[in-house]
Amino acid sequence: MTFRQQIEGLSGQNTNLCYQCSKCSAGCPMAEWMDLKPAQLMHSIRLDLEDRVLNSTAIWLCVDCETCTSRCPQKVEPAAVMTAARVLATQKGVTPSVKEVSIYYRGFVDNMRLNGKIHDASVAGITQLLTGQLRDNLPLAWKLFIRGRVKPPPLPLGGGEFRRLYNSALAIEKDREERR
Ligand code: SF4
Ligand code: SF4
Repeated sequence: MTFRQQIEGLSGQNTNLCYQCSKCSAGCPMAEWMDLKPAQLMHSIRLDLEDRVLNSTAIWLCVDCETCTSRCPQKVEPAAVMTAARVLATQKGVTPSVKEVSIYYRGFVDNMRLNGKIHDASVAGITQLLTGQLRDNLPLAWKLFIRGRVKPPPLPLGGGEFRRLYNSALAIEKDREERR
């Protein structure tokens, strides 16, 4: 299976419908910082440039706002393609080009598994700890805490239902992988 087919299988999108109008890139709030703008990323996928896509900063800087998807005249969903590229990069063990974001995602999922819901301050704190930014941000965190803007973390008891869903999703994905 080619790289393009893998991305299309995961995202459910037909990248050949993209005619490079760049409306997605024009509307993307993160395009300025991306090495491949959304339209360039779509083109790279059509050219099967796996290394270029999976090692791009674009797939990790995408914030899933879906502006690109809402603007696409061809009804292609670049946001879904970005997500698929992130999933594929993770499955293939590609080192994320923006490590802070991948650490944040990991912290987000772990937090859900623990609490059953997100405690923003925990996710932000763990991300900053693991990326070496915690010390600089402690004064701000303390100010937010004493003003009641940051709540203490909940007891880690509520994640059971999410864990069941998470494990089911993993089992489905594993099954799908084995059938390929
Ligand atoms: S807006 Fe749609 S058709 Fe235009 S470049 Fe982006 S993905 Fe392609
Ligand atoms: S979903 Fe991602 S690629 Fe699309 S506009 Fe938002 S940040 Fe940009």
